[in-house]
Amino acid sequence: MRTVDTINFSSKRALVRVDFNVPLNETFEVTDETRIKAAIPTLKKILNDGGSIVLMSHLGRPKEGPTNKFSLKHIVKNVSKLLGTEVQFAEDCIGEEAFKKSSSLKAGEVLLLENLRFYKEEEKGDEAFAEKLSKHGSVYVNDAFGTAHRAHASTAVIAKYFIADAKCFGYVMANEIESINKVLHNTQKPFTAIIGGAKVSDKILIIEQLMNKANTIIIGGGMAFTFVKAMGGSIGKSLCEDDRLEIAKNLIQKAKQKNVHLYIPTDVIIADNFSNGANIKTCDITKIPDGWMGLDVGENTIKANSEIIKNSKTILWNGPMGVFEMSNFENGTKQAAFAIVEATKNGAYSLIGGGDSVAAINKYNLADKVSYVSTGGGALLEYIEQGTLPGVNAIASFSF
Ligand code: AMP
Repeated sequence: MRTVDTINFSSKRALVRVDFNVPLNETFEVTDETRIKAAIPTLKKILNDGGSIVLMSHLGRPKEGPTNKFSLKHIVKNVSKLLGTEVQFAEDCIGEEAFKKSSSLKAGEVLLLENLRFYKEEEKGDEAFAEKLSKHGSVYVNDAFGTAHRAHASTAVIAKYFIADAKCFGYVMANEIESINKVLHNTQKPFTAIIGGAKVSDKILIIEQLMNKANTIIIGGGMAFTFVKAMGGSIGKSLCEDDRLEIAKNLIQKAKQKNVHLYIPTDVIIADNFSNGANIKTCDITKIPDGWMGLDVGENTIKANSEIIKNSKTILWNGPMGVFEMSNFENGTKQAAFAIVEATKNGAYSLIGGGDSVAAINKYNLADKVSYVSTGGGALLEYIEQGTLPGVNAIASFSF
């Protein structure tokens, strides 16, 4: 794989697409630096070689051009602190001032460009815009896995303005590609995929793809009830997508044909309303009384899930098993996380990806006890669904 390790950046100006789309509070302070921290090793490698860096990123979803709320100027001090060097800022990513600053960078210096999405051309993948941006550097580095599923100007289109030897992946991208490769390509069996979360509609494609790879797919979270209803169960007022019942039935059928064990919960914690203070009891998932809703998997399901997980050699986890944000409904998710940790201790490869399972693994402080925590929710899912991503393909083609 072509990573920053294959290039000596001495006297080179690297144009690095990072994912600095970080959350800001109402006074524009960064509330979570994870994404900035993730890019630091790539940036340090370039600086240690004696190169300079032009950083480009998006922040939020600005609709109407430049807006203070979405300005990357708010994060300059965080990047400077984490990188250990003063970062310069250009108030427009393709303006005259930006090019003046980028062309005067000396070895070891870093410039951050203003939010790329202040130009609608970025999301449109506009070629002229991409070509202009490309003039900021002599080497293009893509380290923004979080946006690698978008064919935007800075994430994919721009790569064609650099020759093959002058474009590469940063460490974040390389690690993500490698970890997906371990799960989907060089897979150690048995392979268990744990798919939870709110909606089955978001996960249909990934479940279909995983049926070609996994031995067992554990279903959890709100989406389990669409499957249960599709099989004729009573689910009370649990979350359900009635327009997806046929699809759920088809998935159950497909799993049988492909000899994949699709594990749907058998018991459930039910509540009389959606709150941590609700009355709760446990029941058979196919016999939920009217007026009650399932908010977590029950003890028997937790035991069965843990058993399957602990006997796996490869594990992919996307989406919580219940409403883990509320303490009364977190046990299914928490125990799944602990089972993954135990399997990992025993030699399994575990990849955690997708917003809420990452939030869950962090909630229990277990991120460093699993093999890899993906930084890009949507990108990871799309990679698995499609087998590749525009941002990956633009530099080298990897497909699974
Ligand atoms: P997703 O973003 O699709 O992975 O969904 C994550 C969300 O699903 C979390 O906020 C959970 O609280 C929610 N969730 C999980 N299980 C349930 C459930 N049984 N009923 C309602 N919401 C749920």
